[in-house]
Amino acid sequence: MSELSGRRVLVTGGGSGIGRATCLAAIASGAAVVAVDRDEVALASTASLGPVSTVACDVTDEDALAAAVVRAAEVLGGPVDGLVCAAGVYDVVPALELEAARFDLIMRVNVLGSFLAVREMARGLRGSGTAGSVVLLSSIASERGGLREPGAHYAASKGAIVSLTHQLAVELADVGIRVNAVSPGVIRTPMLRLTDDVEAARATLDALPLHRLGEPDEVARACVHLLSDDASYTTGAVLAVDGGAAAS
Ligand code: NAD
Repeated sequence: MSELSGRRVLVTGGGSGIGRATCLAAIASGAAVVAVDRDEVALASTASLGPVSTVACDVTDEDALAAAVVRAAEVLGGPVDGLVCAAGVYDVVPALELEAARFDLIMRVNVLGSFLAVREMARGLRGSGTAGSVVLLSSIASERGGLREPGAHYAASKGAIVSLTHQLAVELADVGIRVNAVSPGVIRTPMLRLTDDVEAARATLDALPLHRLGEPDEVARACVHLLSDDASYTTGAVLAVDGGAAAS
């Protein structure tokens, strides 16, 4: 795996799924890690698996998130120089039933929460002379519509993450921060609903070139790669980690 020795990494959504796997993969690569999540029980569970510090925070609370990034820098002994924004929510609602409040909630967590985390990390790192790297979480839903689990708000939020990746990569390059995204397909985490319906799951997996679910650690390793100097000339990129879904 790529090398992260000496790096100070913050992972939002670190209490579960891809975020938790990323905390553990970053530690295995030598980083010091702080997990941020709104779910304190989930954070404790992550911390029981490895030397991860935790800060409870809702990423849509601007002041609380700013304080969490400052706290993370204190715990880590310097400004956060690696950030993975894995806090996210999923929702399935047909477009004709989709209310504005529900749309807003998904956009606030998935898009605004990611943006605020990057902004606070960049403010902390600016002027420190240290380079940084950010990984945002998009989704196959950003490029494919689907009838099985309709969610126009979720799809739009993940498309917005791609736009955010491009814009922030350009704006933050001069601050010394690379910004990339990973775009997972169907990954075995608590967010995944596919496993509730065995036949639908089989049909979806059969259609994938790799014919299987992805594991959180497979996304985590892509995040570690993008955080590391192995990806030193990569910024503004969206890396599919989807078993070939986007290619097929
Ligand atoms: P998950 O539900 O296992 O973990 C998400 C974590 O985010 C949870 O611990 C939750 O408490 C936290 N969270 C949610 N809202 C928050 C908030 N407002 N503030 C702080 N923390 C909050 O989900 P996952 O599958 O690990 O998903 C991680 C990211 O990957 C999400 O952005 C998701 O959209 C994306 N993704 C997942 C899949 C998949 O198949 N699992 C596919 C594509 C993209």
